[in-house]
Order: sequence, then structure tokens, then C-alpha cells
Amino acid sequence: MKQQLLKKLQQNAELNINDIEEHKRKGNHAIGFYCLYAPTELAVAAGAIPLPLCGTRHDPIEVAEETLPRNLCPLIKSSYGFAVSDTCPFFRFSDIIVADTTCDGKKKMFELMSDIKPVHVLQLPQQQNFDLFLEPWKNEILNLKTVIEDMTGNQITREKITSAIELLNRERKAKKRLMDITKATPSPLTGMELVEILFKTGFFADKQKGIDLIDEIIDVCNTLIKNGDTPYKIDTPRILLTGVPIGLGSDKVVKIIEESGANVVAFENCSGYKQTFQIDETKEPFLALAEQYLSIPCSVMSPNQGRIDLLDEMISQFSIDGVVDLTWQACHTYNIEAVQVQKFVNDNCKLPYLHIETDYSESDTEQLRVRIEAFLEMI
Ligand code: SF4
Ligand code: SF4
Repeated sequence: MKQQLLKKLQQNAELNINDIEEHKRKGNHAIGFYCLYAPTELAVAAGAIPLPLCGTRHDPIEVAEETLPRNLCPLIKSSYGFAVSDTCPFFRFSDIIVADTTCDGKKKMFELMSDIKPVHVLQLPQQQNFDLFLEPWKNEILNLKTVIEDMTGNQITREKITSAIELLNRERKAKKRLMDITKATPSPLTGMELVEILFKTGFFADKQKGIDLIDEIIDVCNTLIKNGDTPYKIDTPRILLTGVPIGLGSDKVVKIIEESGANVVAFENCSGYKQTFQIDETKEPFLALAEQYLSIPCSVMSPNQGRIDLLDEMISQFSIDGVVDLTWQACHTYNIEAVQVQKFVNDNCKLPYLHIETDYSESDTEQLRVRIEAFLEMI
């Protein structure tokens, strides 16, 4: 039953390309986003399709390295490589790119990307001090509103932004319900299956279609839990993955952990649980968007206590046996923050912790396998 649904997911992912083409043929727009901090509600409110564009594949990195330094985060090189080689249909569909000043590498890469396509950069504060930064951040969001209105010719009325917030809140709730399925011990889903579902539904032009499919998968998983139908045993090590975002193509660490006999049951990163926030529907919409997006606990914020708080909550709720902290090579913010995360996991949670720094290539796969197997033996 689960396999049939995963097949349906794949079919829908393929049909989704046609949906986007059809949407564009009718003169509508698509907007590419590179970071969780950018409020996609604005695109939805203007009748445009928001497309998540972060590069997760190794293939376009070689062409990116003709321009970018080699010792740069693979996510940045992959994203730029897709753009410069015109090999990502979602980048091609995007009429404009919404970027954020997150880390140094990304914001400088966006300057080069603007030679390929119009890029609007949101000046993201580096601290979550609302007294100092909420107002300027809200103004950034209002500026983006104007840019999107001018491009699409559609006014983002109060009614439209409110209904976009409601729709995307429903999508985030569905994703949370899905990710919470793996709280069951043992879990009916593999970490790789979770990555696949979250990755593929992220591109759906029709958000409601994605929500319905996620709900169908949740129903099947609940039946599997009831029937005790799971690929795991009660004592299979339960791993939480934290750190940088991952997706299909940049999932080698999840694969190796699961091939080594554990189950990645929780993803704390921005491709996982960090996406499960809710925008307050009772507040003035743009203030609510500014508050919630600025509160995302990514390592580009300094300090970033929110990540430790989220880890604390997830480690206990998902009955975690060990934490793997993933850093893409040359990602300074996650690399340095690993010191605090290790201290918290070891000292406060009394759990084993493994920090992995790698890229998208397969060159270190066997080396990683040895380290991960040794780590799992500690559990
Ligand atoms: S890791 Fe942080 S900066 Fe990078 S995409 Fe995620 S939220 Fe944005
Ligand atoms: S993983 Fe780190 S270096 Fe790479 S884009 Fe995200 S914050 Fe920047």
C-alpha cells in the first residue's frame, strides 16, 4: 500500500511539470525561492506558483566551479550550476528569483545569478531581536509584496494574503502530521521515504493536491502502525539528523545511516521540522509573517538559541538514541555551531553525537560508512 502511494507521488510529481507549464501558458507566473526565510505566501496571494530552488544534486557543480570558487558550499554551487547550465525546469519556469542575505557565499552568488534572471534580494537580519529588526524585516516583506504585485499585475489584498496564510498553514500542518508519524516506535516510514515525500510535494503547483496526498500517506502509515507493519525492530537505533538542508541527491548521509541498520526518524533541518511553524492568523498578516519568518532558528542567526530549544523538544518527542549533525563543506555557520550542538547533546541529553562535514560527491562514502557504523555501535 505504501509503495503504491509512493508510485502515485512520483506520477503526480511528473504531472506537476505539466501543471506548471499550463499555468504559465495562461500568462501566469512562477517565483523561485532559495531559502525558508522568504515568505512564499506572497507568491500564492498573487496567483503565482512558489518553487523551492535550492540545489541538491551533484551534477551541476562542475559547471558552477568554472565561475565559483571550489571551496564553497555544495548547495550554493549546485544552485548556481543549475541556473547557469539551464538544467533545472523549476529555475527555467521562475520569472523572478527571491533570494535572502543569509550566508556570505549565498548572497555573493546571487549577485552573479542576477546576470541570468531577475533576482530580488531580501535583506535578512542576522539576529532575532524584534525591537531592533522586526520593523526593517517587515518592510523588506512589504517591498517584496510591491515587486510581486508589479510583476504579476495582481494586487495582494488583505483577503488574498489571509487566505494564502491559511492555505500554507494547512500545508505546514500536514507536513508536521507526516513527520510526526515517525514518533511511533518502531516507525512505519524510513527516513529516505520521508525525504522523498517532503522533497517531491514541495514542488506541487496545486498546494491542496499536495496536502491531500500527504494526508493519504498519513492514513496508510496509521494503518501500518496499527498492524505493526514496519521495516524496523523495537530496538532499531532512532537517529535525529540536524544541520544543513538535504533533498533528493544530497541524501547520502541518510542513506548510509539507514543502510547501517538505523532509522532516521527526525529531521531538524530546514528541509524538515523547521518548516512546521504556523503563522498567527489572528494578527495583522504582514506583521504575523515578519514575526514568524524572522523566528526560524537557522545558524545564520546569531545567537541561535531556537535551534537548541527545537532540538531539545524533538529529542524527547521522537525518543532519539543519537544525533547526527550534518555540515556541508565550507558552511561556516553550521560548522561552528556544531560545537554548541555537541555540548548540548552530550551534556544535557546524555546522547551520542556525530558531526559530519561532507559535500554532495560520493568520494567519501566508504569513509563515512565506517564512521557511522562506529557511531551506531555506541548506541
Ligand atoms: S539552512 Fe538556513 S540559510 Fe540555508 S536555506 Fe535553510 S533556512 Fe535558509
Ligand atoms: S548550507 Fe550553509 S553555506 Fe550552504 S547555503 Fe546554507 S547556510 Fe550557506
